[in-house]
Amino acid sequence: QATQGHFTIKTEMAVDGGYDWDGRWNHVRKFLERPGPFAHPDFEPCTESLQFLLEMCKILVIGAGGLGCELLKNLALSGFRLIHVVDMDTIDISNLNRQFLFRPKDVGRPKAEVAADFINNRIPGCKVVPHYKKIQDFDESFYRQFHIIVCGLDSIIARRWMNGMLISLLSYEDGVLDPSSIIPLIDGGTEGFKGNSRVILPGMTACIDCTLELYPPQINFPMCTIASMPRLPEHCIEYARILLWPKEKPFGETSLDGDNPEHIQWVFKKSIERAAEFHITGVTYRLTQGVVKRIIPAVASTNAVIAAACSLEVFKIASSAYIPLNNYLVFNDVDGLYTYTFEAERKENCSACSQVPQNLQFPPSAKLQEVLEYLMENASLQMKSPAITTTLEGKNKTLYLQVFNFTEHTHFFYLGLSDGQELAVADVTTPQTVLFKLNFTT
Ligand SMILES: [Zn+2]
Repeated sequence: QATQGHFTIKTEMAVDGGYDWDGRWNHVRKFLERPGPFAHPDFEPCTESLQFLLEMCKILVIGAGGLGCELLKNLALSGFRLIHVVDMDTIDISNLNRQFLFRPKDVGRPKAEVAADFINNRIPGCKVVPHYKKIQDFDESFYRQFHIIVCGLDSIIARRWMNGMLISLLSYEDGVLDPSSIIPLIDGGTEGFKGNSRVILPGMTACIDCTLELYPPQINFPMCTIASMPRLPEHCIEYARILLWPKEKPFGETSLDGDNPEHIQWVFKKSIERAAEFHITGVTYRLTQGVVKRIIPAVASTNAVIAAACSLEVFKIASSAYIPLNNYLVFNDVDGLYTYTFEAERKENCSACSQVPQNLQFPPSAKLQEVLEYLMENASLQMKSPAITTTLEGKNKTLYLQVFNFTEHTHFFYLGLSDGQELAVADVTTPQTVLFKLNFTT
């Protein structure tokens, strides 16, 4: 029995080698072993749920940065023990203000390894397995072993790739999705004081690519504003960066390097001159560096809120005790505090999850370059470096690769492409090729 003031380990209650001291999981048991008004309608209180969380449920955390540190801590303290973490980065000194599993002595070491060591040493019984690798280094068989995958990434490309991987794991029989092939994806994202958390059931609910239009391409200031009517300190910095740097060539032919203090100093000085001319205040060295490097400050509390929401969804899905978020939570504390949830809808012809053939409409006189531009600029495709192949007279033919790109100005006719031609497009945003059908317009 537990005694007051300290706990005693009760071996007869011990699970998995003795670290489950009496009362250790009381907080989790309250959710799993009692009924409640907010529980899932099909939920039946039982002790097996906790055993499942502790001993069977395998979670993959992608990213061991701002969100990843929070996710690992929350999941481990909620009872998840079989956790893998993938991160390709090493620790930088600027991470230490919010990535709290890291210390000054860890600078330069892989984030995944340090984070895993910290959690394993601090939380008895937890077995975090680190992978100092890229997500693209693993294949289907690796991802298939997990019950739930949580993403704490700062890259849309990586998110889309992960989304595509989970879609590729789905199996259909006579067009009907086999539910046992679904691995839920919980995705968290933050940008300064804004964040979102979402639950994706691949093949069933809206996927990352279904809502790609929510991630607009980088916003740039209009050139006319920068060139002739600046109003903001950022406009002055962009003027020095875009217009003065290539004109005055302060360091010869060297292109502007955001990590070079001399370069930033030069842009800073020129921006101040520009700002003075238009009576604009607020140009600082820090802002200059922020604009040049496109830095959006990371806010520790935003990460904490979003990671908490994501961890909660993992807990709900793993235990089946509560109804999961349906399916998109928005959080914003730029000014006051604002949050709401909505149901993002699947896109009927989503290029990632719909299984609907993608059509490309072009006149027969078009050039391959127009197809490339479309693939990269269309808001729901946003590809980065598409490679296009097709089958001509029974043979596979590469039409376009970035390193081998003399075909882009060639008309379809000369490439041998005809109406209804199937084009296979590979890109960094997806692990699978996307099939398009070329339809000639008249
Ligand atoms: Zn989709």
